[in-house]
Amino acid sequence: MTQAPFATHEVFNQSPPFEDVDLFTVDTPLAEAVAANGGAAAEKELSEFGQHWGSAAMAARGRVANENTPKLRTFDSRGNRRDEVEFHPAYHELMAHSAYAGVHNSTWNAHGEPAGGAAEVVRAAKFYIAAQVETGHLCPITMTRASVAALAAQPDLLAKTMPVIGTRAYDPSFAPWPAKRGMTLGMGMTEKQGGTDVRSNMTRATRDGDAYRITGHKWFMSAPMCDAFLVLAQADQGLSCFFMPRFKPDGTVNAIQFQRLKDKLGNRSNASSEVEFVDAYATRVGDEGKGIRTIIQMVQLTRQDCAIASAGLMRSGLAHALHHTRYRSVFQKHLADQPLMQAVLSDMALHIETSIALVMRLCRSFDRAPHDPSAAAYMRLLTPAIKYWVCKSAPGFLYEAMECLGGNGYVEEGILARHYRESPVNAIWEGSGNVMCLDVLRALSREVEAAAAVLQHLADETKGLPGATEAVAFTARAFRRPDSERVARLAVEKLALLAAAAALNEVSPHHAELFARTRLAQTHAGMYGAVDLADGDIRGLLARALP
Ligand SMILES: Cc1cc2nc3c(=O)[nH]c(=O)nc-3n(C[C@H](O)[C@H](O)[C@H](O)COP(=O)(O)OP(=O)(O)OC[C@H]3O[C@@H](n4cnc5c(N)ncnc54)[C@H](O)[C@@H]3O)c2cc1C
Repeated sequence: MTQAPFATHEVFNQSPPFEDVDLFTVDTPLAEAVAANGGAAAEKELSEFGQHWGSAAMAARGRVANENTPKLRTFDSRGNRRDEVEFHPAYHELMAHSAYAGVHNSTWNAHGEPAGGAAEVVRAAKFYIAAQVETGHLCPITMTRASVAALAAQPDLLAKTMPVIGTRAYDPSFAPWPAKRGMTLGMGMTEKQGGTDVRSNMTRATRDGDAYRITGHKWFMSAPMCDAFLVLAQADQGLSCFFMPRFKPDGTVNAIQFQRLKDKLGNRSNASSEVEFVDAYATRVGDEGKGIRTIIQMVQLTRQDCAIASAGLMRSGLAHALHHTRYRSVFQKHLADQPLMQAVLSDMALHIETSIALVMRLCRSFDRAPHDPSAAAYMRLLTPAIKYWVCKSAPGFLYEAMECLGGNGYVEEGILARHYRESPVNAIWEGSGNVMCLDVLRALSREVEAAAAVLQHLADETKGLPGATEAVAFTARAFRRPDSERVARLAVEKLALLAAAAALNEVSPHHAELFARTRLAQTHAGMYGAVDLADGDIRGLLARALP
C-alpha cells in the first residue's frame, strides 16, 4: 500500500512488517527438529498452519485481543450475580483457530488415550508457532488438553466429557458443557496462603450424595470462562481433585463467584480471576486424598507447554530481530551485515536452534512414554529441568531481541514489547524455578536407577562434544552431594545444557558442537554475542534461522 507522503520528509530505512510469512517453512531448525523427532509426515499440515498463523490477519487478532482486555461482569443492571467475563471477539477468533487445528486436543484419541505416533511433536510445533502470534489464549488451550490426563483417574467422567473435549469446535456460549459443541477446562489450585504448597489449601469439600459441595477460594484461577475446572479441596480423606462445572446438573449457574480479575504484567488477553466457591457443586476426580497425584498428571503437560511457548516467544523475537536488521542500515551498511550485530544474532540463533531441538526431543519422550520405560524416565526427569532452563532464559533473550530493533522494539505497536512482558510468566506458574529444581532432585531420589540410566544416555549421546564429559561428571557429583538442594540450580542448569546438546546432536551435529563449545566447555557470558564464532558458522546459523 502506498501512503501519502509527509510534508517535511519521506519515510525510508524502516523494515516492512514481518507478516504474511509461513512461520513453519521459514524456520529450518523447527522443520529439522520436527523431522528428527518423528513428525516429518506432517510437513504439509504444519506449513498450512504456519501460513495461516503467519498472516497479517492473525497478527492483528493477537494485537487487538491484548489491547482490549477481558472485563469482569460481576452483576447485571438489576443487581443479580452474573459472574461472566467478556472477551473481545479477536480473542474468541484466536481460540476458534487453535481449536480448529486441534491444539487443545490432538494428542488424545476419542477415548482420551494418548494418540500415539508423533502427535505430541506435531501439536508442539503448532503450539510453538501459535505462541509467536498470541500466547494469552493458549492458557485455556493448554489446560484443556492437559486436563484429559487428570480426568483419566475418573474413567466414567472421562467417557462423558471426551466427546465434547474431542471436537475441533470452539463454543464460547455460557451454557452447560453437555449441551455444547466443544468445551474448555481450567484449574484451581493456588490459594492466598500457598501456591507451591498446595497441601496448605483450606478450601473444603463436603459429600452431598454422589457429588460434593465445595466452599473456599482460589487466589489465581485463569481462563474463568472455561466450562469446568479441576479444583483441589480438602475432603475427609485429605486433599482431593474435583471437577467443578460452571453449571449445576439442574441447569442453574454453579456458585463460582469471581471477586476480581488480576491486573497482570503480561498475558493480558487472558483473564486470571480471584474466586470464591460457596457450596459449589463438584464431582470427584480420582480417589479422596489423592488430589496431588491426580492433578500432577495435568501439571506435567502444562509444564511441557510452558517450555514450548517460551521457545516460541524467543523464536518470534529472533525472527523479528533478523528481519528488521536485514532492512535497517546504520552508517550505510545493513545492521545484519555489521560484524558485532552478526555476533549477537548468531549467538541468539544458536540458543533458539538448541531450545527447539530440546523441546521437540522432550515431546518425543511424551509420545513414546506409554510404551517405552526409558522415554518415560526421560520425560519425568527432564520436564522440570527443561521448563526451568527454557522458560527462565526467555526474558533475557527477548530483551536482547528488542534491542536489535532499537527504539522500535520498545513501543507497544510492535509485538516484541508484548512478548517481553509475557516472557516471565511461564517460569513463574505451574512450578516456579526453584520448585522445578527441587522436582528434579525428587525424581532423582525416587527413581535412582531410571534417572542414572537417563544420565548415562545423555553421556553417550554427547560423547566427544566439548565439555560434555566434565558436565556429566559435575552433574552426577552435584546430585549426590548431601547439600544437593543448595546447588540444585547449578546442577539442573548443567543437566538441561547436556540434554540440549544431546537433542541438537541428533538434528545438527555441527551446531551441537558449537553449542557445547560455547555453553558446556565454558560458561556462556551474561550477554548474547559475547562469544567468538567463526564467520562461516555465523552465516550458517543466520541462514538457517531465516532465509
Ligand atoms: C498469570 C498467572 C496465572 C495463574 N493461573 C493459575 C491458575 O489458573 N490456576 C492456579 O492454580 N494457579 C495459577 N497461578 C498461580 C501460580 O501457579 C503460582 O503463583 C505459582 O505456583 C507460585 O505459587 P505462589 O504464588 O504461592 O508462590 P510461592 O509458593 O510462595 O513461591 C514463591 C517463590 O518461592 C520459591 N519456593 C517455593 N518453595 C521453595 C523451596 N522449598 N525452596 C526454595 N524456594 C522455594 C518458588 O520457586 C517461588 O519463586 C497463576 C499465576 C500467574 C502469575
